[in-house]
Amino acid sequence: AKAHKTILVTGGAGFIGSAVCRLLVSRPNTNVVNVDKLTYAGNLNSLKSVENSSNYTHAKVDICDTHSISRLLRLHKVDAVMHLAAESHVDRSIDGPETFVQTNVVGTFHLLQATLEYWRGLPVAQQQAFRFHHISTDEVFGDLPFERGSFTEEAAYAPSSPYSASKAASDHFVRAWHETYGLPVVLSNCSNNYGPYHFPEKLIPLVILNALDGKELPIYGKGENVRDWLHVEDHARALEAVVMRGVVGESYNIGGNAERTNLQVVETICSQLDQRRPKREGKYADKIVFVGNRPGHDRRYAIDCSKIERELGWVAQETFESGLLRTIDWYLDNDWWWKPIREAKYAGERLGAATAS
Ligand code: NAD
Repeated sequence: AKAHKTILVTGGAGFIGSAVCRLLVSRPNTNVVNVDKLTYAGNLNSLKSVENSSNYTHAKVDICDTHSISRLLRLHKVDAVMHLAAESHVDRSIDGPETFVQTNVVGTFHLLQATLEYWRGLPVAQQQAFRFHHISTDEVFGDLPFERGSFTEEAAYAPSSPYSASKAASDHFVRAWHETYGLPVVLSNCSNNYGPYHFPEKLIPLVILNALDGKELPIYGKGENVRDWLHVEDHARALEAVVMRGVVGESYNIGGNAERTNLQVVETICSQLDQRRPKREGKYADKIVFVGNRPGHDRRYAIDCSKIERELGWVAQETFESGLLRTIDWYLDNDWWWKPIREAKYAGERLGAATAS
């Protein structure tokens, strides 16, 4: 086997992709090629800590640009692709589904084609060691009743939103490129992530930053919807385990064993903020307001991640409460990162109601 591994990460300037890049760049004998076209969600500020490392490089390329992707695969002699580039925000997929089809479905197709052509040209030993890792979501499994069950890797696909439908489609394409063409793929489906460098329109950073600004904390419906939460750095370590040690053709569910209602999430943030800033008048939770529900809003997602724990020896290191407190402290310490995004947002866009993913 080669002493060095070169991993091409798509979407490496996004929330999870940047955590993956920061983790992999810190590993010995690992090179990272970040392919990210820098949509509104891509932010090179999230990569400040690695941008000058000799084993890191960024190419501003769209995954639909097969020609540029082929060139990068050959130029860097890539050993694995970790595919995270996507349109990822459910509310945006309801307002404008087309870019979701374009990037998540058509983009994944083009990336698969470029990768397959490159892979076919490799010597056999490198072909066998090669991996295409597709990063997906538990939302492909659709809605779960409040009271029972959780999704295993065998659960049927039943996506509800344009976002989850596009991710489900991309999962199927990736499996088909394995079954039909023999491309060595691995897949993973993860629950909701939270942590540092999370775009401020998503539930947890939105609530933290609105609370600090003394603004209202809007929650969809009655806040009863249940999501499972995983710290983004735990997810990055799980993804590393899957790409390095996962079995070809298999998929792995990744979760935090931390199911919370949206209301519980917001209340925990408020009480942790109360602890951090005890001298304020009133409680942060006084600002919670309930707004109309989101269409197609799944009640509950819950993931059974015993397979990755058993087979790849991964376990989450953070509990929801410990990871959330670290996240709050990160937002308190890093306004240089989120202030410019918040200011641009409020200049031009309405505020979405807080919901998980
Ligand atoms: P994100 O929106 O923060 O980042 C997506 C990144 O992809 C951005 O940097 C963007 O510039 C880039 N990108 C978008 N379209 C592109 C294109 N056509 N070509 C090249 N780059 C492009 O998303 P995220 O939250 O980090 O999610 C990453 C992946 O993980 C997604 O595939 C998502 O479906 C999946 N996922 C996310 C979560 C979550 O809780 N955030 C949970 C499970 C799975």
